[in-house]
Amino acid sequence: GLFGNKGWKPAWRDPAPKAEYDAIIIGGGGHGLSTAYYLAKNHGMTNIAVLEKGYLGSGNIGRNTTIVRANYYMPGNSEFYSHSLKLWEGLEAELNYNVMHSQRGQLILAHSDGQRDTLARRGNAMINQGDDAELWTLDQVKEFAPYLDYAQTRFPIYGGLMHKRGGTARHDAVAWGYARGADARGVDLIQNCEVTGIDIENGVVKGVQTTRGAIRAKKVGMVVAGRSSQVAAMAGMRLPIESHVLQAFVTEGLKPVIDSIISFGMGHFYISQSDKGGLVFGGDLDFYASYAARGNLPMVEHVMEAAMTLMPMIGRAKVLRSWGGIMDMSVDGSPIIDKTHIEGLFVDAGWNYGGFKAAPASGWCMAHLMATGESHEVAKRFRLDRFRTGHVMDEEGTGSQHN
Ligand code: FAD
Repeated sequence: GLFGNKGWKPAWRDPAPKAEYDAIIIGGGGHGLSTAYYLAKNHGMTNIAVLEKGYLGSGNIGRNTTIVRANYYMPGNSEFYSHSLKLWEGLEAELNYNVMHSQRGQLILAHSDGQRDTLARRGNAMINQGDDAELWTLDQVKEFAPYLDYAQTRFPIYGGLMHKRGGTARHDAVAWGYARGADARGVDLIQNCEVTGIDIENGVVKGVQTTRGAIRAKKVGMVVAGRSSQVAAMAGMRLPIESHVLQAFVTEGLKPVIDSIISFGMGHFYISQSDKGGLVFGGDLDFYASYAARGNLPMVEHVMEAAMTLMPMIGRAKVLRSWGGIMDMSVDGSPIIDKTHIEGLFVDAGWNYGGFKAAPASGWCMAHLMATGESHEVAKRFRLDRFRTGHVMDEEGTGSQHN
């Protein structure tokens, strides 16, 4: 590359779309590519295509702050994210690709007795699920993260919950690794191919309309985080989802200073340091529905204030870049992996601000559903009809930190 080596081969092919496939995945993000990979790998389905309107990995898979953890509280989410973390722990060997998965630990701070009790409850749920959790005292937190401001009185630090198997990964590499693995198994990855319509006859899916022509398929999976409502509308469906902007920030490269993830829920702030040295951090949603993949200044100010409250030393660092991504927020904060009322049409959506860590298990479970027609054991609560029946999974309400 940099030295003019012209002999390097692309990591995947660039095939023209065929007239018909056994299955089509709409969306070439982390979840779409992992769905295709596991359809081929686990279920032997190789006559399939991933249709991506831009380039592979151009969506949220390449825009997130890369946090990978298994510390969700609600039954349903707990076992699913636990399964996903186990897949992460074997992902580099599985894909033969360096996704830079780094289990550097996530520390969630407590700022009151009540919050510490809630973290103790969450830690117990994590341990019961078979994952790791340690409730830390203030002294333990001080020793681990001496750079936090323990004198500030607005949100005094009472202790924290440490999840040592939590960490980060190189987000683009996850898309590239799954893409290469799927392509090697015969999956057609078709870029610059926007799906513009879904063909349905007598309640059965027949294929899709795209900017590169019509393509027929027996099964179609909608895996279009950020655009789920728009694509589902092509099938006449209205999803319980609102789309919002989430911003993130990175500073200039610094010497190692933060060797874990610190989550400051009271300030809606979390931070880690990339292997390149940049401090990577973010906050909350911009809080109005939008499809604009960029953010606004009031939230920038809010995030910077939280950063300065928690760790004043960050004021010396220069912000290099900020960006935004589109989050499909489900009304209970939990995802959907399910069939739809249209035969052969499946939906994988509602990943809120936490779908990066879910990419392996989401693909695993979506592939299982599309291949067998049955929900996978760890995803069986991610039903679309829970919003009608009332069996919602209010993960937001449990105070699980986002990202
Ligand atoms: P995407 O990469 O968005 O994939 C969807 C794809 O569908 C896109 O490539 C899009 O172009 C394509 N598409 C859309 N419409 C069509 C169409 N009509 N035809 C064809 N293709 C179409 N999660 C975490 O777990 N940890 C974090 O730390 C974290 N931090 C985040 C920080 C920010 C700032 C943001 C924005 C998100 C963060 N997330 C995090 C969330 C995570 O990035 C998403 O939940 C996840 O990436 C969504 O799944 P995906 O990778 O498949 O999405």
